[in-house]
Amino acid sequence: MKRRRFIKSTAIGAATASVLAGCGTGNTEAPAVQTDSPALRWRLASSFARSLDTIYGAADIMASYVNELTGGRFTIRVYPAGEIVPAFEVLESVQKGSVQLGHTASYYYIGKNPAFAFDTTIPFGLTARQFNSWAYHGGGLGLMRELYADYGIINFPGGNTGTQMGGWFRREINSLNDLRGLAMRIPGLGGRVMDRLGVTVQQIPGGEIYPALERGVIDAAEWVGPYDDEKLGFNNVADYYYYPGWWEPGANLSFLVNRVAWDGLPPHYQAALEAGMEAANMYMLSRYDAVNPPAMRRLAESGTQVRPFPEDVMAAAFTTSREIIQEGTSDPAYAKIHVAYHEWRDEGNRWLGLAQNAYASFVHNR
Ligand code: CA
Repeated sequence: MKRRRFIKSTAIGAATASVLAGCGTGNTEAPAVQTDSPALRWRLASSFARSLDTIYGAADIMASYVNELTGGRFTIRVYPAGEIVPAFEVLESVQKGSVQLGHTASYYYIGKNPAFAFDTTIPFGLTARQFNSWAYHGGGLGLMRELYADYGIINFPGGNTGTQMGGWFRREINSLNDLRGLAMRIPGLGGRVMDRLGVTVQQIPGGEIYPALERGVIDAAEWVGPYDDEKLGFNNVADYYYYPGWWEPGANLSFLVNRVAWDGLPPHYQAALEAGMEAANMYMLSRYDAVNPPAMRRLAESGTQVRPFPEDVMAAAFTTSREIIQEGTSDPAYAKIHVAYHEWRDEGNRWLGLAQNAYASFVHNR
């Protein structure tokens, strides 16, 4: 409903602009749309289920912008996870060109190159605000593009979840000891940290977590936060909901574009894509911030046990995260991103630790 209204207002804006542009020019030439604007139909493979209107929906928002901005000449069809491409094979499909576009989380591909983690999030890494500032203004996007160039891909930020929850546990976690032997769904470097803390780590696409948790194939699972997690029904199969998701302080999703396909676009189509992707980035975080608070309230009211991770879990996670993140630095390309990323985080934390943090810690305790 909201999206319809949003698209409609965009369309009205575009129509008004074209009427204004035509006023009083006396220009009788054919509109540029017929000569410079080829009719294109692209396919986008998403790593996410259609039911997740926040994370999947961002790709639809992007496609709507591109459609409107090109007068309907450039259309992008979004396919949910598993329909034409499996959730964790989006990068390969864009690389091969079997789809022109993907929307995914780069940390699904750390098996190819651990440095892909930096494009999503790392344990105790950048928050959403810090990631966007690093990507758009701190050279972060350029560094990640050097990495993606090896795969024939150009990447763009594609939405952020904000700081995530620490996930659902069927048993209470009272100390580090309680993690040992647990089977948990958790991707990225966070999964590697959990593995070293004694957890049996599993990679499962979002749409398949619920049955695994219900059947007891896994004892714990993390996805994103209250709104999505409630939608996926995790509260029906696990009682304990822990925070914070220290492994995802601000998870960035990525749009991946096949480089050859990108280079073949007219400049105004490239601009439309880029504008649509930035709109999607704004949409996702603001939408999560709108829908998570009431979802959190509903979960707590319906009996979910909401708990902070014990202090020894947080302390061990912090130390082990640092070790694991440091281990990748034997690779020069990883080391280069690692240094830039952490300099940005530390400088940012010194700033956000002043006004932002003082304000939040005062107000949130009132
Ligand atoms: Ca997550």
